[in-house]
Amino acid sequence: MSRCQIVPPFLLERIAASHPDRGVSATSRITLQIDARLRGRRESGPAPLAGPMAAVAGDAFSVYTAANGSDLPGSLVRAAGAPASGDPAVDEAYSGVEGSLALFSEVYARSSYDGKGAHVVATVHYEKDYDNAFWDGSQLVFGDGDGKVFRRFTTPVDVLGHEFTHAVTQYTANLTYQGQSGALNESISDAFGSCLKQRLAGRSAAEADWLIGEGIFEPSIQGKALRSMSAPGTAYDDPTLGKDPQVASMDDYVDTVEDNGGVHTNSGIPNKAFYLAATGLGGDSWDGAGRVWYAALTSGIRPDTDFAGFAAATITAAQAVSAQAAEAVGSAWEQVKVTPASGSSGGTGVPAPTGTAGTSVVSVTRSGGVTGVSRSGHVRLGEDPRSERVEALLAQVDLASVGSRDPQPDRFVYHFNIRGEEVVIDEHDLSPNLHELSRLLLEE
Ligand SMILES: [Zn+2]
Repeated sequence: MSRCQIVPPFLLERIAASHPDRGVSATSRITLQIDARLRGRRESGPAPLAGPMAAVAGDAFSVYTAANGSDLPGSLVRAAGAPASGDPAVDEAYSGVEGSLALFSEVYARSSYDGKGAHVVATVHYEKDYDNAFWDGSQLVFGDGDGKVFRRFTTPVDVLGHEFTHAVTQYTANLTYQGQSGALNESISDAFGSCLKQRLAGRSAAEADWLIGEGIFEPSIQGKALRSMSAPGTAYDDPTLGKDPQVASMDDYVDTVEDNGGVHTNSGIPNKAFYLAATGLGGDSWDGAGRVWYAALTSGIRPDTDFAGFAAATITAAQAVSAQAAEAVGSAWEQVKVTPASGSSGGTGVPAPTGTAGTSVVSVTRSGGVTGVSRSGHVRLGEDPRSERVEALLAQVDLASVGSRDPQPDRFVYHFNIRGEEVVIDEHDLSPNLHELSRLLLEE
């Protein structure tokens, strides 16, 4: 598929047009400073216990507020054991982290995300109108949503469990966030996010709704949730958002350069396999399929494991339970047209960019957030009133200096097309000039 088919371009433009009142953020510079710090953290490898965590050492987790800025972790609002704060975002994050720790500890005997009791930091009220949640390699971060399409991202507990699971994956299989291994990384987060939701609600696999992010949309949006694990591609169909683009079978696998190779789109395939395995095994998802998936995740699979490799790992894990369990898991993968294989390699290749625009056009597509929704915008130079500012920004941008990519789970990815030249940049690597350019093009 070409690069603009996650959501049809005319619908993306309608999303952009629905946000005409937003000014250019005054926090770009701060964001860049913070992002530079985050890059420093990543370069130093997994070392979650640092800085603010020392103040509450001995506790399992704590919730901070960024107070609509981008400084992380921000100010401490509620430490583990402290009473409710009265701020719904803080208290939802508190309950979600508490539930996630309990799920992994009580069911899978895992102490925190790193298996060594790491203190969990969650920050709410990140930036203004921020339509996303992510794990930055060290902590959980949640936006408040724009109040038009999205509500606050702490509302659905499975979104919190999804982000927490990205941390677990980082410290176990460390699946590369690109292509099939990236879609697996995404799907494992949805699977355990759903297990968390089902466990807190006391619903069995047969009773569960299998929706991810239920309650995140404002009432005006025509949709149930961000994703459906039982019926990928059916979660929403809305004039502003377009239709849920997830696929449910290898027959429909989407080759795209957006969203780190369609990680939020193709994750529908292993998501459906998890749903089929959970209902096939019966009982509670977190107990049946959850244990099998956790065993596969921690079985020593490689970071570039593809669907076939992971399917084989889950069948091996299920064989340790019973022959019937292995058969149910095998059948689940068969139904989504994934043939389990051992020794298969990555499948993480990225197709070359296609469809370069005309030389007078500057465009951007932003994809990759936890919502799986893309937005696009463009300026036709010389015809658009924004042309002068766009030209001025481009004069200060050295495209050759844009560094190599280091994708983070659920962070935005920007695909610029600047007079026919394609450039891909992660949210945390955007320079202030490119950040302003993207906001101009997206009319934010
Ligand atoms: Zn994710």
